[in-house]
Amino acid sequence: METTTKLYENEQCLLSFTATVLSCTACEGGFRVVLDRTAFFPAEGGQGADRGTLGGVRVLDVSIDGGTVTHRTDGPLPVGGTVEGHVDGARRRRHMQVHTGEHILSGVLHTMYGATNVGFHLGETEVTLDVDVPLTEAELAAAEEAANRAVFENRAVTVLYPTPAELPTLSYRAKLDLTEGVRLVKIEGVDLCACCAPHVARTGEVGLIKIVSSMHYKGGMRLSIAVGPDALLDYRRRLSAVHAVSVSLSVPEGEIAAGVERLAAALSEERRTVAALRTALREERLAAATQGGGDLCLFYPDLDAVGLRTYAEQAAAMTGGIVLVASPAEEGHRYALASRRGGARALSASLHAALGGRGGGRDELCQGSLPATREEILAALGKA
Ligand SMILES: [Zn+2]
Repeated sequence: METTTKLYENEQCLLSFTATVLSCTACEGGFRVVLDRTAFFPAEGGQGADRGTLGGVRVLDVSIDGGTVTHRTDGPLPVGGTVEGHVDGARRRRHMQVHTGEHILSGVLHTMYGATNVGFHLGETEVTLDVDVPLTEAELAAAEEAANRAVFENRAVTVLYPTPAELPTLSYRAKLDLTEGVRLVKIEGVDLCACCAPHVARTGEVGLIKIVSSMHYKGGMRLSIAVGPDALLDYRRRLSAVHAVSVSLSVPEGEIAAGVERLAAALSEERRTVAALRTALREERLAAATQGGGDLCLFYPDLDAVGLRTYAEQAAAMTGGIVLVASPAEEGHRYALASRRGGARALSASLHAALGGRGGGRDELCQGSLPATREEILAALGKA
């Protein structure tokens, strides 16, 4: 296997380069291209792969196996030929900012709380960082402050290649127990960590580091973070949400939480009033309908199984007759059928036979459903 010279290791700002095509083979979803050297960073260490173009064809993905970097492209390239490569600068810059921001925050969490970074994911829309100790909101806020202070102080970010002899004398964060070819990324006074990815040259380039949310995860914490351009987008999104709520509640932006609380309290008060009015209305209808006594069929728009049963039994007690109460359901109607003198089962069975319903119960009370309209139920009752 060919070893690719990794230009991104020492020239992180290099976005355009020329290289010789060592091999090009067709594969699923394009072509696998290996160059003698590349500025394209492969997916490694939690950081996503670069995109861009190579000799005019698009680079869809980049991966590394041993020392070989493979570019997946959407077109073939001439083996032995020289090609120009252009890395998508905006994507790379975001990756470097977020990744360096993660180093700063991880370094700070390590120094302040002895927390170890046990997972990092740099996605297109989501960035998470896992640490192995539980942390309080106040501790996280203090770490966030310290991380941003390191950004404001615009500290240098450098790459070191210590010799095997120097390595044991250095204290650095590392995921793997390597002894040779260790690449250390040093953030002056903040962090020293083994890492293969490109980083920005000074912490000021990172921009804001914001912990957006945190949750307890595997005995430690999972932090969602927004760094640099992500933080700006997140800020914009939240500001426009706050603004929309402020306008719709007609309260100043700083008072929307209290405004929403007042609204929720008023709404639950209104709900209680509406429920009381509905009950009063039903009872009035029931009293009017049952005045003449005898058998009855009542339709209500919004009763659940308990409501249907309650009203059917109440009405049956008032009229001494057999009473059917129905409410529209997904398919047809739900109903309750009540009678103090019995006969509910027989009537329920004849309705099911006529309309194809289902349900059951006692002779004094049956409940079920009928896949039928109000008119069909009334017609079936007329014949029963
Ligand atoms: Zn790194």
